[in-house]
Parts: sequence; structure tokens; C-alpha cells
Amino acid sequence: MIITMKKTANHAEIDKIMTTFKNQGLQVHESIGENYRIFGLVGDTSKVDPKRLEANPLVEDVVRVSSPYKKVSRMFHPEDTIVEVNGIKIGGKEKIVVIGGPCSVEGEDMVVNIAKEVKDAGACMLRGGAYKPRTSPYAFQGMGTDGILALAEARKQTGLPIVTELMSADKLDEFIEHVDIIQIGARNMQNFELLKAVGRTKKPILLKRGLANTIEEWLMSAEYILAEGNPNVILCERGIRTFEKYTRNTLDLSVVPIIKKKTHLPIIIDPSHATGDWELVEPASLAAIAAGADGLIIEVHDQPECAWSDGAQSLKPKHFKELIKKCSKIANVIGRDM
Ligand code: PEP
Ligand code: MN
Repeated sequence: MIITMKKTANHAEIDKIMTTFKNQGLQVHESIGENYRIFGLVGDTSKVDPKRLEANPLVEDVVRVSSPYKKVSRMFHPEDTIVEVNGIKIGGKEKIVVIGGPCSVEGEDMVVNIAKEVKDAGACMLRGGAYKPRTSPYAFQGMGTDGILALAEARKQTGLPIVTELMSADKLDEFIEHVDIIQIGARNMQNFELLKAVGRTKKPILLKRGLANTIEEWLMSAEYILAEGNPNVILCERGIRTFEKYTRNTLDLSVVPIIKKKTHLPIIIDPSHATGDWELVEPASLAAIAAGADGLIIEVHDQPECAWSDGAQSLKPKHFKELIKKCSKIANVIGRDM
């Protein structure tokens, strides 16, 4: 971190500030310019708050050199993290995973049927929401515990691990008992108490990017989970909000190589929420695989026109099957498998 002090700051005042840094175990290097005195802090500056420093009238400017996240940073952990779920590996250089299933669980028979269809199409995991974050309080809120149990039944019948969203820490025990991957949805990406709670488990966590969050904010949220001791985080880009209204969100595919460079965590793409339109799901998926994503999570429904949520972006099983076939060709081109 580089701190530029104003020329008007006297020695005693500067010494007082720098002593607090030295007491925190940081090295302080000084260089004196014509108009400013510049200090470089070397060591773990993650606990130094640049905004608080800038509030000091003697401080001209503060610039962070290293990232504020440490545990998720590739600099401190050069090897790829591979998250393993019932023998399925997410991350690394080889296999690309596909997760398919309905937006919402609408009943046991319904989710068991879709589970069989997505498995037949080539998916290796089942998704389905039991607790739904809906914009309207009058919209379907999810089947709750019954939905979780229906997913568990679908896993029993197909062997597919299940991914579902946790919205509140008071349901954590239920998720630890029944769920294979806990999804933290876009709206809860910065629910820090929820992040800490899942960080205290060892469950794999699918952390979606918030609707309007920067990459750094997203990685700081992942840092919350790792900082509590859970290294099993999978990032998921699901589109961000921009001025563009033609699509539900704007799929930010540039994050794939950026995430790969900045972190060691796996990243998957959700083309369903990113586009909001089933006809755009396939091209977005092909592009995601080409960009280096470690997997896809896609909404699939037998009768999208009757879906209780997100029908417009849900693929019919036969389209889902075609999509996986095409994606696996792209995967082969870039030296991976599906
Ligand atoms: C979902 O996966 O159904 C969902 C609500 O996703 P997101 O949090 O990305 O909107
Ligand atoms: Mn959905």
C-alpha cells in the first residue's frame, strides 16, 4: 500500500501514524519528494482501511498495490482449487460439469422426472429452488422443506447430486443434512452473516455474482467464506444489470479469464438468468465453454409455458440435450471434456 502525505504534515504527526503500522508488523519505507512524502507499507495490509486513512486531513492519497482478498487470490495459492462433490470434480483443467433442472421445485414427481431427463441428456447434477428469492411477496415463494425432500428423492432415484439455494441461516441444518451444493443467490451475495454461516461448514458453496457487483466485491464475498475455514467455493456468473433491456441481464464473459487469473477458484456460468431467454441459452453456453468456464448451470422444464417461475428462460429437455452435445464439441476443441 502506498500512502502519500501532504507536505504540511509535520514529522511528529507522520511518526505517530507510521508507528501504528509498525506495531501491526508492517514495514514502512519512506521516500521524500518535492511536494509530498510517500510511504510504502509492506506486509499483510488486509486490515488497513484505505478510506479511514484518507479521512485524515494530512493524507493526500492512498493506493492499494495488492488485492484486498488474500485466501481467494492466486498469488497466495497458485494451484487450481478443485471442488469435489460425490466424486464429481469442479475446476481443474479437464472435465466441464453441467448442472440442469427447474428454476423451482414444483412437486416430487415433477422434479424426479426432470432429474431423469437431465441425466439422460448428460447433466451430472440437478438444480432446483425450494426457497425462492422473488421480487414480489405475492409470487410463488418455493416449496420449502417439501421441496428439499423432493430433491433428495430425485437424487435417490438418479444418483445426481443436488444444488439448491439457501436464503437464511436458520435453514442451514436442513441444507447440511440434505443438500450437496449450497447455492448463495445473487441477491444474497453480500449477506455477510449468511456467508460467514456457510463458511463455518465444509459444504461446497455455489456463490453467484450479485446483480450489480464488481469482480472485487464478488471475490471479497468469497473471501468471507474462505476466511471462516471453508475452501470449497465455486463462483457463478449469472449476468449483471446494465442499461441493456433486451436481455434480462448482461452476461459478462470477460470475468472467466479474469477470475482464472485473479483466483484459484472454479467458475461456472448460468446462461439462463444471464439472458432470460431460452433461445439465447445455447449460444451463451457455447461462448462460456469457449471462454474457459468450468461448468454450466441451466434451467430445464418439461413445459416451460406452465413453469411456476422463469419459464421464458427454461429449456425443454430435448434442447438441453442438443446444447450439451454442441458444448462438448467446443470443450474438445479447447482440450477439455464434458
Ligand atoms: C436461481 O438460480 O433460480 C436464482 C434465483 O438465481 P440468481 O440468484 O442468479 O437470480
Ligand atoms: Mn430461476
